[in-house]
Amino acid sequence: MARYTDAVCKLCRREGTKLFLKGDRCYSPKCAIEKRNAPPGMHGANPRARRKVSDYGRQLREKQKVRRVYGVYERQFRRYFRQALRTKGLTGATLLQLLERRLDNVVFRLGFAESRAQARQLVTHGHFLVNGQKVDVASYAVRAGDVISVSGNSRDLAYFKDLAASKGGQTPPRWLSTDLAALSGRVTALPERGDIADLPINEQLIVEFYSR
Ligand code: SF4
Repeated sequence: MARYTDAVCKLCRREGTKLFLKGDRCYSPKCAIEKRNAPPGMHGANPRARRKVSDYGRQLREKQKVRRVYGVYERQFRRYFRQALRTKGLTGATLLQLLERRLDNVVFRLGFAESRAQARQLVTHGHFLVNGQKVDVASYAVRAGDVISVSGNSRDLAYFKDLAASKGGQTPPRWLSTDLAALSGRVTALPERGDIADLPINEQLIVEFYSR
């Protein structure tokens, strides 16, 4: 699948909900969902053009929504689902846990980036260490006890200097602790389903989608 290069706000409008893909803008009145919550396209705002959504449609939209939030391609998402199926426990909750454990997501959650897309770029450009070792793979799955820090050379970049001097915006979730001044953070535990409450996700629909 080709990389998505169109306006990301269209993805939120397609799903009819905020996916928080653009950092600060998502919390401002400039957010496209605040201004015009209608599907993209010339008939998007026309209520007569909207059809009744089938069960399949709802399942598909839920899967697409989660995939877009975490910025994962279909093939990789399916791989996560298969991994969740093989793991003991609730498949849907395990799927979300696997997605949350991605290094790009953790960098975003720790407050080192404004969005997951920015976090992915920072990771792939080699700015982060995991337990002192450089890791530039965005999909790297963190474990409980891992320490994520900004690498030595990158600490001199204006971006990270400003970040260390800032008070930080968001509070990290319960399973992470962060020390922005030291440009490091820690995975204190693996995320549980209840920790992923900032987005309205019905993971059961995704399980149904792949179980057809
Ligand atoms: Fe989505 Fe953020 Fe754009 Fe709003 S500003 S539509 S939440 S990406």
